[in-house]
Amino acid sequence: MFNKILVANRGEIAIRVMRACRELGISTVAVYSEADKNALFAKYADEAVYIGPSPSSQSYLSIDNIIKAAQETGSEAIHPGYGFLSENTTFASACEDNGIVFIGPPSSSIDSMGSKITARQTMKDAGVPIVPGIEEGISDPQEAAEIADSIGYPIILKPAAGGGGIGMKIVMNDRELMPALSSSQSVARSAFGDDTIYIEKYLTEPRHIEFQILADRRGKTIYVSDRECSIQRRHQKLIEESPSPVMDESLREQMGSIAVKAAKAIGYVSAGTVEFMYSRGDFYFLEMNTRLQVEHPITEMVTGVDLAKEQILIAAGEDLAYSQNDIEIKGWAIECRINAEDPLNDFSPAPGKIKRYRSPGGPGIRVDSGVYTGYVIPPYYDSLISKLVAHGRDRMEAIARMERALYEYIIVGVKTNLIFHKAVLRNKRFRSGDINTHFIKEENIGEAVKAVAVEDYEKGMSLASALGADTRKIAAITAAIGAYMTAEEDQEKS
Ligand code: ADP
Repeated sequence: MFNKILVANRGEIAIRVMRACRELGISTVAVYSEADKNALFAKYADEAVYIGPSPSSQSYLSIDNIIKAAQETGSEAIHPGYGFLSENTTFASACEDNGIVFIGPPSSSIDSMGSKITARQTMKDAGVPIVPGIEEGISDPQEAAEIADSIGYPIILKPAAGGGGIGMKIVMNDRELMPALSSSQSVARSAFGDDTIYIEKYLTEPRHIEFQILADRRGKTIYVSDRECSIQRRHQKLIEESPSPVMDESLREQMGSIAVKAAKAIGYVSAGTVEFMYSRGDFYFLEMNTRLQVEHPITEMVTGVDLAKEQILIAAGEDLAYSQNDIEIKGWAIECRINAEDPLNDFSPAPGKIKRYRSPGGPGIRVDSGVYTGYVIPPYYDSLISKLVAHGRDRMEAIARMERALYEYIIVGVKTNLIFHKAVLRNKRFRSGDINTHFIKEENIGEAVKAVAVEDYEKGMSLASALGADTRKIAAITAAIGAYMTAEEDQEKS
C-alpha cells in the first residue's frame, strides 16, 4: 500500500480523493495554483505544493511541475481526478517513466479511447454495438454528403479528438451539411489541434446510460451499477441518477456484460465508465471515460462500494475485493451538479465570493464540495460548487429528499443553478422517469426556472415582511437562494 499520494487536481474531486486516502491511512499532497491559495482542498491535504504562478488551468496541466512535486514530497502515486491530466497519455507515461504509480488505467488503455474513431473501431472489432456511422475521418465535402445520405439524416458530426460536447454539430438535412462541417472543423482545430471529423447517426430521443466498471490488474472486471445521465444542457450532464428508470435486471445484465467486454477489449485496469446511447430498447457504445467520473457518488450510494478507495487499492496492486454477485443495488440515488452560474441568464458562469454557505444534511444526503463561507470562486476553472446527492429507498423518496435538500441549501453571494434543479425535480415528466437527452428543451425548463425564481422571491418577500425586515435586500437574496435562509439571516442581524 502507498504511504503518500499526490492529488493532481483541485476542488471537490481533490477532496473526495483525499478523503479516501485518509480512510486508508495514506498521507496526501495537494498541488495548487496561484488562484487556489485559499482553496479548501489545499488546506485539507497533509502537505500542499505551490505549482504555478499561472492562476489558470495551466498550473494543473504542467506535467513537469507535478512530477517534480511528487518526487520532492516522496509521493509514490498520483491521482489525477477528472479533467486536467486524467486522460492524458503523456502524463500517465511520465508517471510510469519516473517510477510513480498513475492511479488510473495503463496509458495504452487511455490511448485506445483517446480518438473517438479508434475507439469505435476497437469496439466494433470486439463485438460491442456502436452508434451507426463511420470509423474514419472525413475530409472531402462530397464524400461527407454521400456518407450522410447513406446513414440517413439527421446525423451528428463529431471531432475525433473531442470531449465536453465541443465541436459536435447536429445536421438535419443536406443543405445544412457543408456549413456544419466547416464549423465543426474549425472549432475542433482550435480546441483540440486536430480537425478530424466523423459522422454518426443522430439518434432521436436517446437516453444517456452508462456503466461504472472496476477492473484489477489480474483482469477481474465487474460492472458496478448503471447511471442515467440524460438530463443535459448543451451535451453536458446536470442531473444523474442510479439506477436508470428504464433498467430491469435482464437489461442491466445485458448492458453490464457488454460494458465489461468493452473494458476488457482495451485491457482496462482501474475505475472507468462505459457510456451508451439507449433508444427504444436498443443501445450503442458511445465512449469510454478512463477515469473517475463526476457522477461516481450515486453509484457509491446505491451499491455501498467506495469507488475512489477501490481505485487506489487496485493501483496498489491489490485484487478486487468484489465479485459481480456481491454488487447489489439498494434504493435510488440522484445527483444535482450545483454550479455557480446564472440560470436566468443563459447559465453564464457566476464566479465570486461566497458570502454565506450552509450545505444541507439529514437522512440520505451527501454533499461533495470544495467551498466554504468567505471562499472566492475563481473565474479560471469550471463552475462546480458541489455535488448534491440524495439517496432514498426508491426513486420517489430520493426525489423528495433532493427537493428538501435543495430547499435547505444556502449559498449567498454568487448566483447558482439551485432554481434550475428545483424546476426539473418538480416537473411531472421527470418525476415519471420519462426522460431523454432533449428533456430540458422539450419541457421548456427555462420558463419553469423563471417561475421557481418568482415563487422563491414571493416566499421571501412575505417572510421578510412578516419579520419587518428590509424587504428589498431580503428579496434580492431570496430570489437566488429560496426562502428558507431569509428568516435566519434576518434574525441574526436584528
Ligand atoms: P463528448 O465526449 O464531447 O462529451 P459524447 O460523444 O460523449 O461527447 O456525447 C455527449 C452527448 O451528446 C451524449 O450524452 C448525447 O446527449 C449527445 N450525443 C452524442 N452522440 C449522439 C448521437 N449519435 N445521437 C444523439 N445524441 C448524441
